[in-house]
Amino acid sequence: MQKSIFICSMFFLAISQTVSAQEKFEWKQIFSNINKEALDHSRAYETLKEATETIGHRLTGSANGKKAEEYAYNLLKSYGFTNLRYQPFEVESWSRGNLSVAIGTDTNHLGAVKSVALAHSPVTSDVSNEVVDMGNGVEEDYQASPEKVRGKIALVYLGVLPGSKAGTKGLHRSEKTAIATKWGAKGIIVINTAKGGILLTGTASVTGKLIPIPAVCVSLEDGMKFKEDLKTAKLYTHIKMNNFSGLIKSRNVVATIKGKSLPKEKVVVGGHLDSWDLATGAIDNGIGSFAVLDMARTFAALKLQPERTVEFVMFMGEEEGLLGSRAYVDAAIKDKSIDQIRYMLNYDMTHDPKGYNSSDEGSKALFESIGSIAHSLDSNFKNSFRSGAGLHSDHQPFMLRGVPTGGSSGNGLPNNAGPCYHADCDVFSLVDKTGMVNNVRFSSMLLYGIADTKEITAKHFNDAETKIFLEKNNLKEPLQIAGEWRWKD
Ligand SMILES: [Zn+2]
Repeated sequence: MQKSIFICSMFFLAISQTVSAQEKFEWKQIFSNINKEALDHSRAYETLKEATETIGHRLTGSANGKKAEEYAYNLLKSYGFTNLRYQPFEVESWSRGNLSVAIGTDTNHLGAVKSVALAHSPVTSDVSNEVVDMGNGVEEDYQASPEKVRGKIALVYLGVLPGSKAGTKGLHRSEKTAIATKWGAKGIIVINTAKGGILLTGTASVTGKLIPIPAVCVSLEDGMKFKEDLKTAKLYTHIKMNNFSGLIKSRNVVATIKGKSLPKEKVVVGGHLDSWDLATGAIDNGIGSFAVLDMARTFAALKLQPERTVEFVMFMGEEEGLLGSRAYVDAAIKDKSIDQIRYMLNYDMTHDPKGYNSSDEGSKALFESIGSIAHSLDSNFKNSFRSGAGLHSDHQPFMLRGVPTGGSSGNGLPNNAGPCYHADCDVFSLVDKTGMVNNVRFSSMLLYGIADTKEITAKHFNDAETKIFLEKNNLKEPLQIAGEWRWKD
């Protein structure tokens, strides 16, 4: 049946070619229902609150992680999902054990320092060495005095120090660790950038494998004091740690709504359920994953069934290196369903979206058509569109296999939560209820529109096209550093 009906009005003239007037007419009603359902009955905020209170952190492979997987599964079940499964995976992963760091001018009287190990630090490490100030910890700092760090412990600032040379590169903590190792450091102490005694974790490995030297984070205040001390005296440290590295078992949680007319074609919408273990991961990624859970609730409550199949996925293992999304994509390659995934929408710390984004420029018309309805329901939604591609979240394994990816463009983090990223202060009091509900509303609309539209023009790239796409988006170099560039040139 030809769906397009030509109606001559200003409103419908604005519609792009990819979305027919009939579709838009139907979506208006459905989006209005989504809007009302989310505003009246969203449980995103409440369930996240409950999970942070009853479970705590959601570290992959830990007892808490297992509880979180079960919490999500049971929640989806309670929303009426019957097509619901765990997707188990077993991988090498890292988790922290004990750590002590002591620093001082007198090797016989070192003072204990509050610190945390960075992920992928060695399983056991016991080093006593002199500490040297390596500034920002970028190549230039080492080139200036090549032997300075050899056999010693590098003290490095996580960001770019005020007063640094213009153009100093802001490198990832894992890259700074790799550089220190290369220049012969026996350990690295990373100074956090956030004020207030905050400690940060995250991986210190560029490859996801164990690193050869212990890497720890200290607070901004402690770290700056050590830098000051080093101007007039020698500092020594004793770092002792043990960690776990080995096979862990974890499970993604997958809830499916079969498509009405194109059940084989799939739109995947996901967010990582796991978190680091220093706090409860309320922001990273409670706000994203619990919004996706509530998008699933919204679809179930309204009995929505778009043309294509929708899969809601709670990924585990994101923080240790996208372990769950890699497992999902590996399984999809194996059962040959990868080519049926038409879009992947990822929600990682998304808060209060004002627009949408996609890896595919050509999706602008579709996304803006969807967004124009969202905007008509709430003018706070600005219906901006941005295209581009980045790394380091669960869309990455999909993107590397040619799947178009996208999502909603957030409004920064709520309550200035930035300094608590990966830190011991990522707690529920930072969460903003309105922002979460807005995410549920506008992202459910995006999801429905993509899954329901007559034609998705975004191309599923073949291998050669994927390579060109990644090069165009300047992702070749970081993928090569991570050992993930699978092409010869
Ligand atoms: Zn995250």
